[in-house]
Amino acid sequence: MRALVFDSFGGPLEVREVPAPEPPPGGVVVRVAASGVCRSDWHGWQGHDPDVVLPHVPGHELAGVVAKVGPAVRGFAVGDRVTVPFCCGCGTCEPCRHGHTQICDRDFQPGFTAWGSFAELVALPRADLNLVRLPDGLGFVEAASLGCRFMTAFAAVTEHGRVGAGDWVAIHGCGGVGLSALMIAHARGASVVAVDVDDETLALARALGAAHTINARDPVEEIVELTAGGAHVSLDALGSAATCANSLRCLRKRGRHVQVGLMLEADRTAPLPIDRVIAYELSLHGVHGMAVGHYDALLRLVTSGAVDPARLIGRTIGLDDAGAELASMGEFAQRGVTVIEL
Ligand SMILES: [Zn+2]
Ligand SMILES: [Zn+2]
Repeated sequence: MRALVFDSFGGPLEVREVPAPEPPPGGVVVRVAASGVCRSDWHGWQGHDPDVVLPHVPGHELAGVVAKVGPAVRGFAVGDRVTVPFCCGCGTCEPCRHGHTQICDRDFQPGFTAWGSFAELVALPRADLNLVRLPDGLGFVEAASLGCRFMTAFAAVTEHGRVGAGDWVAIHGCGGVGLSALMIAHARGASVVAVDVDDETLALARALGAAHTINARDPVEEIVELTAGGAHVSLDALGSAATCANSLRCLRKRGRHVQVGLMLEADRTAPLPIDRVIAYELSLHGVHGMAVGHYDALLRLVTSGAVDPARLIGRTIGLDDAGAELASMGEFAQRGVTVIEL
């Protein structure tokens, strides 16, 4: 099969012939139809992820058709249109037994713990637990665009934020995950205040349903004023010490902060206004993808037309252009999700 391979961290990204995978006993091989390009793939290529072993094929936001089935698989057959969460569960550890496959103790992540989906074929384990059947009306490109940022935003808004109609929701950082969260919170009847430092991004946020937008590095006072006391739920969708603290400080009493953006390097141990957490009885939630069991609810929201993830797709490219696209992910200010179509 053809795949995008790298042999050294930060080294050349080359499309070449490699051996086709075989399905594990309980798993499948999927013929990849579409695969989103994500900044996490860039981190893997750069050597920031200890799970990646060389040589490596990246790619974790995939949709396609089951091409081969292991002998122990019961629920899926060749020809099924499927996707998977980027974080697949083992099915037997304690978090998996409670349904929390996204924080599995022995998680499988295509494109990180094994070869991924920047390839014609990808092997996936424990298919009966991890595969998700796609509704007929949902295209592969749209389905691939749900598998990471959108799915994480869905978990942040519904599971952790428990956002309901009439809530004020503040979103700090309007990249792919922030705009996804905006659409989902808006669809649930919440009023969203979107914060970013780029006017073009904020215009898109308004078009996607934001009630208010703020272009500022310190938006706390303005949010508290707009919402008559603070947001009920606030998301740090960027991931930095400053946006995390802003997100906590803009909450009203008993509000919920959800940390969506990854905290890297010096921000890993960012100081937090814990005195405010106590005085206001705030709660803090981390989010690491979404349990596979919540995929049905996510797909219903999408197929109902209440949200349209396709509005966040910037462009589609071929596998031959994937290397250049991946290399460019090091720069911020990406506009729209890029999806590889195979
Ligand atoms: Zn991703
Ligand atoms: Zn597990």
